[in-house]
Amino acid sequence: MLPTRLGTCYEPQTMVSTTPVVGKEIDSWCTKCKLMLMHTVESVAKGRITKVHCNTCKGQHAYRAKPPGTGTRPRASRPAVAKIPDFTTLLRGRDAAAARAYAQTDRFAEGDFIRHATFGPGIVIARRDVNKIEVVFADGPKVLMHRRA
Ligand SMILES: [Zn+2]
Repeated sequence: MLPTRLGTCYEPQTMVSTTPVVGKEIDSWCTKCKLMLMHTVESVAKGRITKVHCNTCKGQHAYRAKPPGTGTRPRASRPAVAKIPDFTTLLRGRDAAAARAYAQTDRFAEGDFIRHATFGPGIVIARRDVNKIEVVFADGPKVLMHRRA
């Protein structure tokens, strides 16, 4: 005799409880794995999940229902724009006295350390054109002219 199926058939939990329960498994963004993964609720405060641990890396962190940068699709193709290097990183180990005064008539190459009259010290990160250079300053990258006669 086969056992009746009724006894083993559980109703799917369509009614998701609005009160999170400690120990319950939940999908969360893992800040360590950088992925949406199964997590276990660690603590709940005022009906909200405050802490979870990742079932994959066992790391504890705050609950994040969505990956960071919501609104953008996680698999969206990245723009072809190269990442702009950080100014302080670029400036590290450089001697301010070695900076060349910027002038449109001068010519500059990638990696040059310059000093602009308005923007201050900057590092040439790329040559855009025959007479254009991209320079990272403290307040961001700028395109400047060079080799102008
Ligand atoms: Zn993880």
